[in-house]
Amino acid sequence: MSDYISRADLLSWLEKVSQSRDLVAPVKIEDLTLFQKVERVEDIVFDPGNTDLSPKEFFFPKSEVLFYVDRSDGRVELVPAEVEQETVIFGIRPCDAKGIAVLDLPYLEEPADALYRQHREKTTLVGLSCVSACPECFCTSMGTTPDDASNVDIMLTEVEEGFIVQVVTEKGKALLPEGLLSSKEVSPPAAPSVASVPSEGIAEKMHQVFDSPYWDRLADRCLHCNVCSYVCPTCYCFDVRDLRSGGRVERVRSWESCQSPGFTKIAGGYDPRAAKGPRLRQRFAHKLLYFVEKFGVTHCVGCGRCVRSCPVNIDIREVIQDVQGLGVKSEA
Ligand code: SF4
Ligand code: SF4
Repeated sequence: MSDYISRADLLSWLEKVSQSRDLVAPVKIEDLTLFQKVERVEDIVFDPGNTDLSPKEFFFPKSEVLFYVDRSDGRVELVPAEVEQETVIFGIRPCDAKGIAVLDLPYLEEPADALYRQHREKTTLVGLSCVSACPECFCTSMGTTPDDASNVDIMLTEVEEGFIVQVVTEKGKALLPEGLLSSKEVSPPAAPSVASVPSEGIAEKMHQVFDSPYWDRLADRCLHCNVCSYVCPTCYCFDVRDLRSGGRVERVRSWESCQSPGFTKIAGGYDPRAAKGPRLRQRFAHKLLYFVEKFGVTHCVGCGRCVRSCPVNIDIREVIQDVQGLGVKSEA
């Protein structure tokens, strides 16, 4: 027997949730499917494949005020921003949920990022298992699976006319009213098959090919448009600026990318990654080598978005395959 909820009961529950919290879920906006604050639960797209952007912006917004300077009363005070609203993200896929768990590693490492921690604490994740996989997905090669419930608070799996419900955390339990779920004899559908890439031992191989001319050759066609970083659920680089707004000064954090020219420029004008090759190598070395060495997991969850979005078809799956094939330092 499984805990079960019908689709009609799920929608009424979500309607109630949206009255006390921000409810965020995949919705259609012209040709895109994006996680957005939901105004009407009927607008939720239940089978969007993989949304065009991940929900990382609800933890690490595209642009966010960190604090502002208060000069009233003749004093100068730095007033930190606070997250007040509770949020429920509905319909997050296992790869994106793992993406948030990956973001936790640098952002919650002490000293933790205060604003990121508030976003995390005020947000409940309701996941949806994948019953089909996009052609670009390779999650099973990057440490997760289409039905992985380990990074959400509640996991739903669609079955005929309803959903199997797994309550994973106390936070998830607290969101569900007493008596909402029923028991039903129902089996989950078979997990979809997902393409695999040869990721075994990739960090060691990245070491070996670090100085290969492969990176310059690959970077020849890169436009450094930054799209791969912006669509990625795990990329977390940012820039910080002080801006005037409404008569006060705010410190604002905004998404940035290691692919931007000048991203690593330092005082005096020196840029250790001024050339295209080292810049592109940095993206893959961070994902497949440095992050693995520091945190023990790849900085990629296999969502396939960068594969779909790159205008010149630079494909991380092919890069992994190529790196494994290059073998040793002397081989170019
Ligand atoms: S999306 Fe493609 S072209 Fe754009 S920066 Fe990334 S790898 Fe380069
Ligand atoms: S590197 Fe590409 S495939 Fe991996 S998590 Fe980021 S967007 Fe998804």
